[in-house]
Amino acid sequence: MPIPELSEPSIQPLLQTSWLGRSYIFLPEVGSTNDYLREQKLLPHGTVIATDYQSAGRGRLDRRWEAPPATALLFSILLRPDWPAERAIWLTMIAGVAVAAAVEEVATITVGLKWPNDLVVDIDGEWHKVCGVLLDTSIDANGRLETTVLGVGLNVNIPAESLPQTSFPATSLLAATGWPVSRPPLLAACLRQVEQQYDAAERGRSPWALWNERLMMLGQPVAISRPGEEAPLLGIAEATEEDGALLVLDANGRLHRVVAGDVSLRLR
Ligand code: ADP
Repeated sequence: MPIPELSEPSIQPLLQTSWLGRSYIFLPEVGSTNDYLREQKLLPHGTVIATDYQSAGRGRLDRRWEAPPATALLFSILLRPDWPAERAIWLTMIAGVAVAAAVEEVATITVGLKWPNDLVVDIDGEWHKVCGVLLDTSIDANGRLETTVLGVGLNVNIPAESLPQTSFPATSLLAATGWPVSRPPLLAACLRQVEQQYDAAERGRSPWALWNERLMMLGQPVAISRPGEEAPLLGIAEATEEDGALLVLDANGRLHRVVAGDVSLRLR
């Protein structure tokens, strides 16, 4: 029987990192890679777990994340940054920027970011979601990050007819480009990019500028539904601040600072 594509013996020779993924776990199936790492308290910083199938994959707000077996890159990274809790957003930014760069290395496609944490690609003028990022954090009594788990669900070789039916249209690299992508080198590229961005952040460099540069909705009319607010906020997505907040200008000229919500683009 061939060894699974994402198993440790096939991934280790491809790794170009110094610390990320050197502790590596592959499970053919798991409930959720984020939950698995959250429960394993003793694993070292930089541990990566990958799976071929999640039976209880999660998005934000406990929404479901779905992908057919062995067609996606589903992995999570355990990180223990000695950072203040406000800096957790850096991890989401790092994942977005790093995975976007890794995808652009291996597939002929341009990747944008949909605020705050989705990777999107343009297909015939319409944005489609190709990857989601999910950050789980725990914070200690001093307001510093303790354990953080960064989860990535990237639709790689999901055939067009098997894509989940979602309100924001989903796609995969295969469906968007017409070409399958080998998952092991893509995973290795993701880990190399994440390590590079994380090391830069450890030296004090914010990932904000690289993240902000990729946000595709800046300057566009948007509708934002916010937790606890019934009516969506309509306006132009003007800019972001370094803490990740989105600034939206409404029709009355009022500027709103949005820290959480679901953004969709509106037609002009
Ligand atoms: P968002 O950040 O856009 O709110 P989440 O991170 O919450 O998205 O992810 C969950 C949502 O993503 C689900 O509600 C579903 O609509 C959508 N979704 C689930 N699986 C996939 C997938 N494989 N590809 C794209 N979108 C998906």
